[in-house]
Amino acid sequence: MTDTTSRARTSGPAGTLHGIAASPGVAVGPVAHWEAGAVVAVEPAADLAEASARVVADLRRRADAAATGEGRTVLQTLAALAADPELLGAAAARVAAGEPGAHAVRAAAGGYADQLRGLGSYLRERAHDVVDVGARLADCLDGRATEELPVPGHPFILVARDLAPTETAALLDPAAVLGIVTELGGVTSHTTILARSLGIPAVVACAGATQLVDGWEVVVDGGGGELHLDVDPELVSTLRQRERRLARRLADTAGPGHTADKTAVTLLANVGTLDDALAAAASDVEGVGPFRTEFLFLDRSEEPEVDEQVAVYRAVLDAYGDRRVVFRTLDAGSDKSVPFLHLPAEGNPALGIRGLRTRTLGAHVLERQLAALAAAAADSGRQRWVMAPTVSTVEETETFARLARAAGLATVGIMVEVPAAALRSAHLLADIDFASVGTNDLAQYALAADRQLSRLGSLLDPWQPAVLDLVAATCAGASLHGRLVGVCGEAAADPRPSAVLVGLGARSLSMAPVAVPGVRAMLAGLDLDTCERAAVLARQARTAPEARAAVANVLSG
Ligand code: PEP
Ligand code: MG
Repeated sequence: MTDTTSRARTSGPAGTLHGIAASPGVAVGPVAHWEAGAVVAVEPAADLAEASARVVADLRRRADAAATGEGRTVLQTLAALAADPELLGAAAARVAAGEPGAHAVRAAAGGYADQLRGLGSYLRERAHDVVDVGARLADCLDGRATEELPVPGHPFILVARDLAPTETAALLDPAAVLGIVTELGGVTSHTTILARSLGIPAVVACAGATQLVDGWEVVVDGGGGELHLDVDPELVSTLRQRERRLARRLADTAGPGHTADKTAVTLLANVGTLDDALAAAASDVEGVGPFRTEFLFLDRSEEPEVDEQVAVYRAVLDAYGDRRVVFRTLDAGSDKSVPFLHLPAEGNPALGIRGLRTRTLGAHVLERQLAALAAAAADSGRQRWVMAPTVSTVEETETFARLARAAGLATVGIMVEVPAAALRSAHLLADIDFASVGTNDLAQYALAADRQLSRLGSLLDPWQPAVLDLVAATCAGASLHGRLVGVCGEAAADPRPSAVLVGLGARSLSMAPVAVPGVRAMLAGLDLDTCERAAVLARQARTAPEARAAVANVLSG
């Protein structure tokens, strides 16, 4: 942590940096940078067991003191990881082979994280947590601890390139930290959840934040995802009024999503494992859309038996009762490794045999999965929705629909993740029931920007007008046949882009369950007409920042 006591508080240049709205609230104060990895000396732990016990005890203590259930759950999850027998066992094996303890535990955590990353980019937060906990165990063995906040003499806005969850837990004292701004991070990261649970306004993925000078007075607009470099009292008062309105709506709204004039927008949870599905079922989400079925298949050397699949799908359907559950069939390939499929080595796997295309390998995995989904849904009287990933053409759509219906699945859809599918949606959607736009892949393919490369983040920005045009094209094609269009990429989880997506025609939004209340509150304050006006303004803009700025007033909530 940089010492800010000796620095004069000054204003920086005028301007606004844009990021993702991560934790609502408005904070005004001087910038203070924190360098990841800042540590202080402590007594080294004697061995792995002692390091684990210490890290677990520290995280549990913080969990007990956490203000909200959400924050507590994150800290308990991290504590469980610090005692994880698989992680500690792998580290112990390395120690037995002669590696120093700290090196061994870092390497073991790195290996475990690589496995998780191989299961798909949406598990990157878990991989991040494992690396983070491994680093804390290693620090403990080396006699280092994450630096606690010094007393800088006044409260401040914490600016960092990134914050690991355990660093956030150790650093964040709401009395001292007025706001948080990071250059990396996402809305579903555990760091973000912790900030939200502590009630600290936060903006993440905010490019340029680390260029700010310590001591500059700035305004963090956590609900709008912006960092204002000039402290204009009128702006601050407008932002605070908006936050108060949003907070009231957050407290007042629950249950089904809708706009202020009662256009229904179904709010669904994106889930990737059975545990996640069961946890989200306990909240008031309106269902699941999608249940990413990959977790059953990834990293397996043998295809899971149909019976095993049926049991999982049935458990999900039972948990949601009459609520909608949209199953997405196996999305293998690209960043998701499925050893038993023996996918060919490819120079450009994101453009290769992935998603629905894996069917061309002739292994009939899709047919067996559809049979398992149909068996799970049979006699349950539940809504049976199924959709295919990475669909590009009419032929692929027709093949999928034929197979799904032959298996006995009534409601069939496709994910629109490829620009070709968006542009030709009138043809692709003619004979199926719905489309779900995957904005993560759609942005990747529209902007030719690898979604795994954080330095290409500005190209993958949900405000990119080209991506909005493709969503609009999808909705226009769908409307010719009265087909439902939803969105299930990350864009749906950010309140302002979500309102634009509704304005473009989306009538369901699927997101990480933690994001649902914020999106619901935003929509409840806006007429459909306003969302449509915002969508027009965003599409008229030339650039992503201009699109964001163009709708800021319209969507001020
Ligand atoms: C998407 O591409 O937007 C999507 C929801 O699918 P995934 O992130 O699983 O590729
Ligand atoms: Mg996708």
